[in-house]
Amino acid sequence: MTKNLSNLSVLVSGASVAGPAVALDLSRLGARVTVVEKAPELRGGGFAVDFRGHVHRTVLTSMGIWDEIHTRQTHMGRQTVVDADGTPRVDLPADMMSGDVEIFRGELARIMYERTKDDVEYVFGDSIATLAEDPQGVDITFERGAPRRFDLVVGADGLHSHTRRLVFGDESRYLRFFDHYVAGFDVPNHLGLDRTGRVYSEPGRAVVVGNYDGDPDRAGALLVFRSEELRYDRRDVTAQKRILRERFAGLGWEGPTILKALEETDDLYFDAIAQIHVDRLTKGRVALLGDAGYGATMGGMGTGVAIVGAYVLAGELALADGDFRTAFAEYETRIRDFAKGCQKISGNAGPFFAPATERRIRSRDRMYRILASRPLARFFKRMTEKAATDIKLREYPF
Ligand SMILES: Cc1cc2nc3c(=O)[nH]c(=O)nc-3n(C[C@H](O)[C@H](O)[C@H](O)COP(=O)(O)OP(=O)(O)OC[C@H]3O[C@@H](n4cnc5c(N)ncnc54)[C@H](O)[C@@H]3O)c2cc1C
Repeated sequence: MTKNLSNLSVLVSGASVAGPAVALDLSRLGARVTVVEKAPELRGGGFAVDFRGHVHRTVLTSMGIWDEIHTRQTHMGRQTVVDADGTPRVDLPADMMSGDVEIFRGELARIMYERTKDDVEYVFGDSIATLAEDPQGVDITFERGAPRRFDLVVGADGLHSHTRRLVFGDESRYLRFFDHYVAGFDVPNHLGLDRTGRVYSEPGRAVVVGNYDGDPDRAGALLVFRSEELRYDRRDVTAQKRILRERFAGLGWEGPTILKALEETDDLYFDAIAQIHVDRLTKGRVALLGDAGYGATMGGMGTGVAIVGAYVLAGELALADGDFRTAFAEYETRIRDFAKGCQKISGNAGPFFAPATERRIRSRDRMYRILASRPLARFFKRMTEKAATDIKLREYPF
């Protein structure tokens, strides 16, 4: 049942995880794929993301990248919740936090990019400006490049998807805010961490510092805080730093050192902890993939769902011999419930790191002390794995 999609031209918007994944899957089926990414080059860095369970493994093996992911995994060990003076309160075992295998988002993107760059056209520093669909295809104009025509468009441009806004309407209809914000940036490894992490919480705010890859000089910090929804310019890093400075003023533990690193960083990630819930993942010749369609930000599931979504979307197009109506309908039904199940697991990241009161911090610690005991840790692992494996993959002609 070898199918070939060589008649199909596909434009993918976004080159992070979902974009290169679907580019890899489609190109090995023969489709002609162009990926447009607004950043001037492949974005490196970012936080660690993880995979768990047999479904992720099957998909990554089929994509031919399972071994390389293993070679470049972080080997993150335990994370310890600490008091203001650094005294350990509770240890969170590695497999509870990091899945079966964990890798930096930027490394994962790089692996898929390297695998596809000879067969897929990557255009950096550009973005879709307009889309006009007719019965035979989609006319695209770009912010910078010349207009072109494609058979299909895949929006893999993240939580604040530009494609989704152009085709499905304003973000406010789809984004559910989870009362917390998260910021991420590099800090010096002044705690001398070696593939371990520390979590320090005060009511409504928390800091997580982790050394994921054994680099003796570098660690990553996440700041999480509870908040009403804020109005700010997502391109204005100075304003974001100001918000963080205000929200974390007087932070105990290693607060002053971490806030100093915040001032110095030129690579700040700042966003709401939020999820995307759309009514439909496809419209005409356009499909949403990854965070654009079912984003879940923090919480451990978004990357796996994006990879599985890419595999199913490409696989269904192959089974339907390129008939996008049939393929998109199958993609909708197969991915929707799976993605929703994974979103349910990840809804708790904000209150987990930054419980609202001192009492809740204590009861979180008590609960995790119990959960971290061996039999319960296994139970917890099975629960998250259940969501990550709750899909029956079809046989696709890759
Ligand atoms: C703090 C944090 C921790 C996380 N931890 C985990 C974890 O442990 N495990 C896990 O599985 N997941 C985790 N996630 C979620 C995971 O990062 C995402 O689910 C995953 O990266 C989804 O990838 P994506 O390709 O759909 O979107 P994104 O990674 O957001 O990529 C979107 C891409 O589109 C590009 N883009 C945006 N606008 C345009 C445009 N107009 N034109 C062209 N390109 C555009 C962007 O530059 C970017 O490259 C975490 C997320 C956060 C924020």
